[in-house]
Order: sequence, then C-alpha cells, then structure tokens
Amino acid sequence: MMPGKDAERRELVPMQGELAAQADWDYAPAPESRDVVTIAPEYGLFIGGEFVPAADGRQFPTLNPATEEPLAQVADAGEADVDRAVAAARTAYERVWGPMPGAERAKYLYRIARLLQERSREFAVLESLDNGKPIKESRDVDIPLAAAHFFYHAGWADKLEHAGFGPSPRPLGVAGQVIPWNFPLLMAAWKLAPALAAGNTCVLKPAETTPLTALLLAEVCQQAGLPPGVLNVTTGAGSTGAALVSHPGVDKVAFTGSTDVGKEIQRAVAGTGKRLTLELGGKAANIVFDDAPVEGAVEGIVNGIFFNQGHVCCAGSRLLVQESVADAVLGRLRDRLGTLRLGDPLDKNTDIGAINSREQLDKIRELSDAGEAEGAERWSPPCDLPERGYWFPPTVFTGVSQSHRIAREEIFGPVLSVLTFRTPDEAVAKANNTPYGLSAGVWTEKGSRILWMAQRLRAGVVWANTYNRFDPASPFGGYRESGFGREGGRHGLAAYLNA
Ligand code: NDP
Repeated sequence: MMPGKDAERRELVPMQGELAAQADWDYAPAPESRDVVTIAPEYGLFIGGEFVPAADGRQFPTLNPATEEPLAQVADAGEADVDRAVAAARTAYERVWGPMPGAERAKYLYRIARLLQERSREFAVLESLDNGKPIKESRDVDIPLAAAHFFYHAGWADKLEHAGFGPSPRPLGVAGQVIPWNFPLLMAAWKLAPALAAGNTCVLKPAETTPLTALLLAEVCQQAGLPPGVLNVTTGAGSTGAALVSHPGVDKVAFTGSTDVGKEIQRAVAGTGKRLTLELGGKAANIVFDDAPVEGAVEGIVNGIFFNQGHVCCAGSRLLVQESVADAVLGRLRDRLGTLRLGDPLDKNTDIGAINSREQLDKIRELSDAGEAEGAERWSPPCDLPERGYWFPPTVFTGVSQSHRIAREEIFGPVLSVLTFRTPDEAVAKANNTPYGLSAGVWTEKGSRILWMAQRLRAGVVWANTYNRFDPASPFGGYRESGFGREGGRHGLAAYLNA
C-alpha cells in the first residue's frame, strides 16, 4: 500500500468509529446476487458417482439460518446407504484410485481446484445461504482456501516417494470423514484433498445443518470426471456419522467437531485397527502485552473471536490483556465493535452474520447467561438484531475469573471473555489453564518474548502478532482435549499413508 494512503487510512479509522456511534448515516445495502446459484428442491446422496435417494426415502430440511427459510430437502442416509457408499469407495479404491499413478491422480485434483475457482461465486453464495456466514468471508476465505487445499495436495500426489515417508508409502484404503458446520466446504477440502492425493477413496458426512456445498463439490467432482466411487457423500444426522465411523469397511476415520463426539468416536474405533485423527474444540488465549501496538492488537482480537461469528475451533475466545494497558485496549475494542455491521449475510458490508442453528443459539445464550449469573460484566455495542433467523450480538465479558464457565467452556459464538495478567509467567499459567490445547495468539513487539511464550504455551498453533491465519502448507491440530493428528502440510499427508 502507498505510504500516503496508509496515513489517510489511519486518520479515517477513528472518524469512522465516531460517525458509526452517532448512527446518523449508514452503509447502503450491497447485496450479492442470490441468483448466481440454483438450489434444487431436493438433493440425493452422492454414491458411486451418482446422486441417489436414501434407501428408505427419508429426507431432512436444510434452512437459511438468517431467515429460517427452508432451502432444500436433503436425503438422510441410514446404515444401508452408508454400507453402499463404503462398498462403492472400496471398489473404486481397489480397481481405479489405489493403483492409479500419483501423477494421474494429481490431474483430477488440479481440475477440482480450478473448477472451485471458476465456480467460486456460486459456492460463496451457497455457503452463506446455508451457513449464515458473511459473504465477504465465504468469498475471500472459505472458497479460496478450499481451492488452495486441492492445488497444494495435487502437487504432493506424485511426490510421495520423495517426501520422507519411506520408499513406497501406501494409501490406507477407505477414509470415513465427518465434518462440522462452521466451515462446511473448507473442512471438506481439508479432509478430502490429502486423502485423495495419497490414493485413498472417501465417504464424507457433512453436518446436518450445512450439507449443500459438499453436494455442490460432489457435482464438481462429476464435472472433473473423478472416477465413480472415489468420493461419496452421505448426508444425514449424527447417526449417519456414527454408522460411518463404526463401519467395518472403513480403514481411516477423520473427524472435526466437538470434544464429546470425538470421545465417542474414539471409543467406537478403539481396538478395530482403524487409523484415527480428531480435530476437536478449543478455548484459546489471545494474549496482549503492554508493548503491543494497540490498533493492531484490537484488529487481532476482533478477528480472533468475531470472525465467522466465533464459530471457530481455534477462536481467541479468552483475551488475556496485561493489566497496565487493559483500560486502553478495552476502550479501543469497544469503539471498534461499535463499527461492526451485523445482518444479511449476503450483504457485502456485513461483518457478523447469523448463528448457524437454533441449537447453537440456545447454547450461546445459556453460557452467556451463566457468565452474568456468575458475576462477570456483560457488554455489547448497540445493535439491532433482525426479527427472523438466529442472531447474537458481539459480546464482551469483563471481570471474568478463571473458574467461570465462560472462561472454561467452548461457547462457539461471538462472545469474548476478558482476563488480565501482570507478568509473562502469569499469562502462560492462565493461558494453559484449560483442558484444551489447540491454538493461542501473542501480541508484543519483542521477538524474544514471542519465542519465550511459544515454547511455553500448550497449544498446537501459536500465532504471533496475527490470528486465524491458515495455509494448506502449514500443519494444524491440537492435543489434550483438542484432539490429535495434524491437517495440512506434510504432517497432514502422513495421516493418510501407511508409511
Ligand atoms: P458435533 O461434534 O456434534 O458435530 C460434528 C459432526 O459430527 C457433524 O457432522 C455431526 O452430525 C457429526 N456427529 C454427531 N454425532 C456423531 C456421532 N455420534 N458419531 C459420528 N458423528 C457424529 O458438533 P455440533 O454440531 O453438535 O456442535 C456442538 C458443539 O460442538 C458446538 O457448540 C461447539 O462447541 C462444538 N463444535 C466444535 C467444532 C470444532 O471445530 N471444534 C465444530 C463444531 C462444533 P450432525 O451435524 O448431523 O449432528
């Protein structure tokens, strides 16, 4: 950016805050067109390269959480359907995909990546409709990153012999993959791209509330000419996921979701010889030291917890701020939150979209009420919530103690719990005082302090002077109650290989 523009921008920031606070003007709506995507009234399961109804004909509706409007009826896969999908994946593995040279598999992955880019606008609108997330996030984060995962892993497919996994690493077979609703297409890409690059075939179970982009991805795979059975999508509820992970024809289980379900899955696969990776919940600390540039830290705090309505496993849901700068940081944070725009996810100006489901909204409300009842002080900027749909305002709790539920439990919503600390040791002790271990953020201008903190924080990912930054080349994952195994990078590939 040009230096002149930069200076101009810095001057504009406080003005924007003041004007928005006065609320005497507003942004004109800038809606993305819903017409770029055609939503069918009904969707089948994707098995053996074709869309087919569930064996017993059962369906469930998927809603637009911003309006509660039903978008489509989707096939509800039972055990017989999961069985069919696993059989299709097994046949494709043995006859086509397993024996195929890596350089040939790569061509399909490149094709899928390019089609995702070509159809990115369609995917972005569909994701925002089904999930409730702002279009600027689905357009600028979810879809480009999903394509990037296919591009990245396409590059690995013909290089596995030279990647340090031994002379001839072999795929595992059929992967059963269960994903959540917070990044529906991106989580599908995280699971599918490495599995397919390594030569496995897949049965994917999307979340019940967000099945549509996984089904559009299945269509893209058809368009790319992916051999039938290499990817299968069995939509349904938790019982479909349970049937998939415990199916004896599955060799590898990969799950992203809640810690409770992760534990159930671990019990279900124990003793079966199946390989397992679990990417579970988190309660990350975002730690701001007194020497951090306040503006940058505030942007990092906002990105850390209000990106994707806080429906992020690695969200910076606990702000640990050094006591000497707490008032200054919180004052600036409140001003900044006053400028966030909540509303129509398809509006390009929207910063905060809808909560994904009634159940999730109830959970956020229940935990926030518990925060108040336990004595923390609750604050939200003035903000009109739409009458229909599932909405929750950006919320900050101060006066939080480590024993409060809002400091310990994953809220998975736009709710920030603020704690203070005086010394680096105290920051580390408080940050690590959680059963989770997925991520953390550190804000300071001292490089030596960043390294000192990173060595002591018990988290799979530590971001320094940034937050929520993802790259397909960078392994992501946690330990303790946040799960085990890594996704992305060379480490992520290892989870899909017999090396
Ligand atoms: P779940 O863990 O229940 O859902 C994740 C996926 O697992 C979904 O596809 C779900 O299907 C499926 N599933 C549910 N039960 C089983 C089972 N017994 N065996 C196999 N698969 C199963 O998360 P929820 O959507 O219910 O959210 C609950 C809480 O979990 C949230 O409030 C949040 O705190 C946390 N969460 C954390 C995520 C993370 O990335 N860390 C992601 C999502 C949720 P279905 O959608 O049909 O239930």
